[in-house]
Amino acid sequence: MATVPTITLNNGVQIPQLGFGVFQIKPEDTVEATRTALEVGYRHIDTAEMYGNEAEVGEAVRQSGIPREEVFVTSKLNNGFHAREDALKAFDQTLAELQFDYLDLFLIHWPLPGIEVDYVETWKAMEEIYRSGRAKSIGVSNFNPHHLRKLFADSEVRPVVNQIEVHPYFAQNDVRAFNGDHEIRTEAWAPIAQGKVLDDQVLTRIGEAHGKTAAQAALRWHVQRGDIIFPKSVTRSRVEQNFDLFDFELSQAEMAEIDGLDRADGRNGPNPDEFNYIPS
Ligand code: NDP
Repeated sequence: MATVPTITLNNGVQIPQLGFGVFQIKPEDTVEATRTALEVGYRHIDTAEMYGNEAEVGEAVRQSGIPREEVFVTSKLNNGFHAREDALKAFDQTLAELQFDYLDLFLIHWPLPGIEVDYVETWKAMEEIYRSGRAKSIGVSNFNPHHLRKLFADSEVRPVVNQIEVHPYFAQNDVRAFNGDHEIRTEAWAPIAQGKVLDDQVLTRIGEAHGKTAAQAALRWHVQRGDIIFPKSVTRSRVEQNFDLFDFELSQAEMAEIDGLDRADGRNGPNPDEFNYIPS
């Protein structure tokens, strides 16, 4: 089985660079999909309260027989729970759903700049959770540099990661550079743009040159950029394919060619500066 590199976060905690994402996997399919990923060798799962499948992720980890401490599990604070008391309760609920006594990484899912509660207050609740030891690390998702600067000015614990949309059509070089300058690792969500980069001729050609697919070329590009990724698939052959990234290397010229696919209009998901969605 291939060895997935680990990355050491700014608090000394280690995270596998490659994980498995479960966004848009229906609860009834999540145990099987997650068990498949664990069988294939993934030891890092990315879920969220918003995905509605935390309970099934926890169940899959238990059913796998793999010791809890060998699987790195991330979840995220749902929108609408940003006030201190709500955030503390939501974290308890996340642990109850997973039936875990700790979480490896807990993130603020979105900054929600338009709501009444300031995400700095939310971050202080995250710090309380971190200090309790029940989340081994805390971080943020969908934060732009100006959101992070505001956080730094009024808090003590530095986020370990910032999970943002990144793929060859939306390279996010500015946010990644800001993260890197502040010892925050970038986690790249939608690493293959939810499938939208897979017909790309450059990725297809570069993949073929290594006996790999366009998806593997894109995922390898992320790995060589040093970002953390967790592609999602409910298809076993793709789950295997997405894990098979560590027996080839893209040349500098190939990396530069994929860098060149970045587009001004490449964003696939919501813009964090405008997104204030609260689930009902
Ligand atoms: P991905 O970029 O991982 O793409 C998933 C899609 O690509 C699915 O339709 C899947 O199909 C297909 N696919 C996967 N692998 C292959 C392959 N090798 N060949 C062809 N098609 C493939 O999108 P996600 O949005 O799922 O992003 C990954 C993870 O990032 C999420 O699961 C979630 O954990 C996280 N995320 C976080 C967000 C945030 O706001 N923090 C937002 C969005 C995602 P199929 O399943 O049918 O096989």
